[in-house]
Amino acid sequence: MGALEIDGLTKTFGDGETENVAVDDLSLTIEDGEFLTLVGPSGCGKSTTLRCVAGLETPTSGEIRLDGETVTGRKPKNRGMAMVFQSYALYPHKTAFDNMAFGLRMTTDLSKGEIDEKVRDAARVMEIEDLLDNRPSTLSGGQQQRVALGRAIVREPEVFLLDEPLSNLDAKLRSGMRTELQDLQQRLDVTTLYVTHDQTEAMTMGDRIAVLDGGHLQQVGTPLECYHEPRNRFVAGFIGSPSMNFLDCTLRDGVIHHDAFEYRLSTPTEASSAGSRDVTLGIRPEDLDIVDSATGGLNDESDASGASGVEGAGGADGTMDATVTVVEPTGNVTVFSIDIGSQVLTASTADSLDVDRGARITVGMAEENVHLFDRETGAALSPSAATQAEEAPARGSSSS
Ligand code: ATP
Repeated sequence: MGALEIDGLTKTFGDGETENVAVDDLSLTIEDGEFLTLVGPSGCGKSTTLRCVAGLETPTSGEIRLDGETVTGRKPKNRGMAMVFQSYALYPHKTAFDNMAFGLRMTTDLSKGEIDEKVRDAARVMEIEDLLDNRPSTLSGGQQQRVALGRAIVREPEVFLLDEPLSNLDAKLRSGMRTELQDLQQRLDVTTLYVTHDQTEAMTMGDRIAVLDGGHLQQVGTPLECYHEPRNRFVAGFIGSPSMNFLDCTLRDGVIHHDAFEYRLSTPTEASSAGSRDVTLGIRPEDLDIVDSATGGLNDESDASGASGVEGAGGADGTMDATVTVVEPTGNVTVFSIDIGSQVLTASTADSLDVDRGARITVGMAEENVHLFDRETGAALSPSAATQAEEAPARGSSSS
């Protein structure tokens, strides 16, 4: 059992005059056996949160509970948690075996034989049995990471705390270790709080992700919920690669107005038809449908017909005319930079299109892929978000 609760956690650094709120009133529950990824940009408070949970920092206020029991005042070794650091933090003069055994020798009264068995079991799980006599300097980054994880496993913790454990590995190894870590976590069924700044890692690894910015929790949900139903503009821009495009627009009488196009929503709601409001339209690169091209050779007809409001050349029907400024083939997907006059957008497609730099194209958007955000607050304008904000609901958010 290991349900972890972070309740109203605040951590400030500084001396009153230059106070820095690293984590601000964060509440989060990680269910027993769940893999939750805490993701956000550098400096958003991820590591501070993890260190408070581990007991390496003292919270300014708030509580940490494990299975309902407060552990906030306990020493790190008495919390039933094991932390793995980005730097691996192995003792350089100890062998892999001794690195893994050290914690057990210091904090338990297990016999030498019992410790030996536990270390060898963990080494088997991490496939490092042949490396147990090696010192860290003779191991590769990936092997050191396995030793660091093995050291966490031998303690049989109720909670794993992982702080960017893969970021020192090269891209190929990182991707392999991602899969292995998830597999390991599922086999051991240990509640896991995993910190990363890498949204791809967050999207692919966690049961749920918690997005943090400026010490504030922005959204908690499954990766796909955060991708399809971002609660605000920050989450929309942070989750997904390449990032979502944002266009300043005005919503008036059920029509989204922009210099480059007008988009009539098929089901205008109270908010969209009552007066005018400044909104930000968000559209993901993969949701910009290339519906026409002056250079020819592209069209997947089903794409064009699937896009609501797309009927022809750019303008009043929700399509935009654009010039292709950069073409980036990546193998399975091609990414385009397209200039719509007032700004450059990113579009991507898995279709093989014969479109070169300088080509004139027309792009459209299906209504279900259009996200709308309040321009001032950044809050998503979906019926639920708008209700929470006590505003009349608006159409066009992904949650529709
Ligand atoms: P990164 O991905 O770069 O590690 P992070 O999201 O983990 O960033 P934290 O390391 O938690 O962010 O830092 C959050 C904020 O708290 C930052 O502004 C940082 O400068 C500040 N901070 C962290 N530790 C300390 C400290 N010991 N003393 C003073 N300020 C600190």
